[in-house]
Amino acid sequence: MLYQKSLYLYRGEARAGIHYKELADYLQQLFPALEIVPRDDIFRKALLTGEAAQGEKMIRSWARRLAALKIVNPAEEFRELEPFPAEVKFEIKKITAPEKIRGGPLYEGVQLSQFLSELIPVSEPPGECIHIIITDRLFATWNDDDRRYHARVSIYNFPSIISTAGIVEAPAKPREFYIKLRMGFNREGLKDEFSGRFIDYDDPRLTEVLKGYLLQAILFHLQGEPFCLDPNCRLYNAHFQEEVLRAQLHSPYEFCPRHREILHLLNSDISTPPPFLVS
Ligand SMILES: [Zn+2]
Repeated sequence: MLYQKSLYLYRGEARAGIHYKELADYLQQLFPALEIVPRDDIFRKALLTGEAAQGEKMIRSWARRLAALKIVNPAEEFRELEPFPAEVKFEIKKITAPEKIRGGPLYEGVQLSQFLSELIPVSEPPGECIHIIITDRLFATWNDDDRRYHARVSIYNFPSIISTAGIVEAPAKPREFYIKLRMGFNREGLKDEFSGRFIDYDDPRLTEVLKGYLLQAILFHLQGEPFCLDPNCRLYNAHFQEEVLRAQLHSPYEFCPRHREILHLLNSDISTPPPFLVS
């Protein structure tokens, strides 16, 4: 039940277009009895709770683990390889100065989620706590149907991870964009031409789009079902950039009738404590 739960929202790297306070305020207003706790990025948070003297050792060990989660060939099932020293060094820099380091490899998403779960304090277990990590690391999951990896925006799990790079890279851009790209048009020029039809890095619309994915993560934790079939609902599982923009920015309403009702019921749970709490 909501009144017992805390939601820990780990900020990602500081990037243009992402306003973390606005995200936390939005969730708090939608879920008044959920305790929303904004946090620093997951590595900084874990360093603060660990022993200071162990800091450097921990960073080195995390960097090695992260570097080993790189997908080398998206058409082959993942197997962990010993990372190169330069790859470990890159991860050390990204952990210690995330604002300065952009880009990076494509990570195995399920393994990344598993690794990050190890950084969550044991005193904040699933059932009582929801952990959502925003990151600019790009991750992918394996699809058995076409036997290759596909970039993803989010993985809903304990913790849930939402990738801002995934918002840019995972949902497909308009078909005409790819046709023109194949015809030899300049990529940057095409980005300008299609700018209203997809999200880019540092896009001012990223905060608004992130709200929908955060809500999906919360509903996954509270109900097990993060998605909606209504293309105008914020919970819609969009596969195309234009669908993302429609559901998160251009819809005639924020939630479909079913999700309005679900949100109402979840919040009613909170305002009416069960009898055993009444003194
Ligand atoms: Zn809905």
